[in-house]
Amino acid sequence: MTYRRSFRVPFLDLAVRDQAERADILSAVGRVLDHGRIIFGPEVGELERSFEKLTGRQHAVGCGSGTDALYLAFRALGIGQGDEVITPALIWLATANAIANVGATPVFADIDNAFNIDPASVARLVTPRTKAVLAVHAMGKICDISRLQELAKNKGLLLIEDASQAFGASYEGRTAGSFGDVSCLSLNPMKLFGACGEAGMTLTNDKSVADHILRLRHHGMVDKEHSLEPAFNMRLDTLQAAILLARLPRLEGTINRRRELAKRYSAALSGLVETPKESESGRDVYFVYTIRTPERDRLEAHLLADGVEARVRDRVLVPHQAHFSRPAAEPWPNAERLASLMISLPMHEHMSDNEQDIVINSVRQYFSAKGVN
Ligand SMILES: *Cc1c(COP(=O)(O)O)cnc(C)c1O
Repeated sequence: MTYRRSFRVPFLDLAVRDQAERADILSAVGRVLDHGRIIFGPEVGELERSFEKLTGRQHAVGCGSGTDALYLAFRALGIGQGDEVITPALIWLATANAIANVGATPVFADIDNAFNIDPASVARLVTPRTKAVLAVHAMGKICDISRLQELAKNKGLLLIEDASQAFGASYEGRTAGSFGDVSCLSLNPMKLFGACGEAGMTLTNDKSVADHILRLRHHGMVDKEHSLEPAFNMRLDTLQAAILLARLPRLEGTINRRRELAKRYSAALSGLVETPKESESGRDVYFVYTIRTPERDRLEAHLLADGVEARVRDRVLVPHQAHFSRPAAEPWPNAERLASLMISLPMHEHMSDNEQDIVINSVRQYFSAKGVN
C-alpha cells in the first residue's frame, strides 16, 4: 500500500523520529541482546511491576496482545460455553472475537453519545445466562463505569475492563486499568502507549486469577514439566517489554500533546462539525479524534483527495460481521447512527501544528465550498 506515503498528513506515524526516544529504545534492546534472556527476561517482570504501580492494582500479568489479554481474562474468570457476555456493538472486533473464542456468546449493547457502552442497554440485555459485562473505554474516554459497576454488583455479574484505548485516562480520580475483576490492555504500536510489535497486559487484585493467567499464557504450565489445562503460547515478548519500559517516561508527554491537539481541533472545527465533548470529571487521552457530521461520506472523499488521511474506523458494527449475525435481542439505533456520522482525523503525538493546520484548512475548505461559513 504505497499510496499511504502520498498523504500530506498521515492518520498515524509509527516511525520513531525523535532521536532521543530512538536512542533509549535501541539501548533497551541492546541490554536484552546483552543479557540474552530473550524469553521471560527480567524486563517482563519489571514492566508488570510498573503497571501495578501505575494502576494501583495488586497483580499485572503481561501477555502477547490485547486480544490475548481479553481471552486470558475470560478463561481465568471461568467464562465459557453457555455464558453470555455483554459487549458494545461499536468497537474494535477483538472484543467480541475474544468472547467467542472462549466459547461464550457475545451479546451486543448499544452505545451512548460518547461512543461508549450504554449501561441502560446493558441492563435490558441481562438474562439468566449473562455471566459478565465487558466495559470498553472507547477512543480515550472512560465509559460510564460507576453505573456498570453498580449493575454488575446488583446482578452478580463479573466486570471486565478493556482499557486498550484509554491507558492514562482517568475518571473521578481513578485511572483506566483500575476497574473491574480483570482489566485488559493492548500495547500494540497503534495504541497510545505502544510497543514496536505486539504486546498486552492483564491487571487484577485477585491473586488466584493472576496465577491462573500466569499459567494460561504458557500452555497451562505450573512448572517446567507439568500442565494443568490446554492453553496457548501468549507470552509477553521480552524485547517489547524492554521497549515499553524505555517509552514509559514519555507517556505523560504523549497524552499532553494529544490533548493539546484535540483542543486545537475542537476550537477550529466546532462550528462546522460535532466535536468530542471533553469529560468533566476526568481526563480524556484522545486515542483518536473523532468528529461527526451528516456530510461524512463526502467529507471523507474530499479529505482523502486532498492528501489528508482521515479514517472511518467502525463503518461495520461488530454484530454485522458474518460470524456474529443472528437475531439481536435489541437493535443498536445509536451505534447505527454514529457509525454513519463518524470520521476520525489524523492525530498522533508527533503531529506538528503545521500538519494539523493542513487538516483544519481542508475541513474548512470543504464546508466553505458548500456555503457553510
Ligand atoms: C486494540 C484493541 C484490542 C486488541 O488489541 P491487540 O493488541 O491488537 O490484540 C482490544 N480491544 C480494544 C478496545 C482495542 O482497541
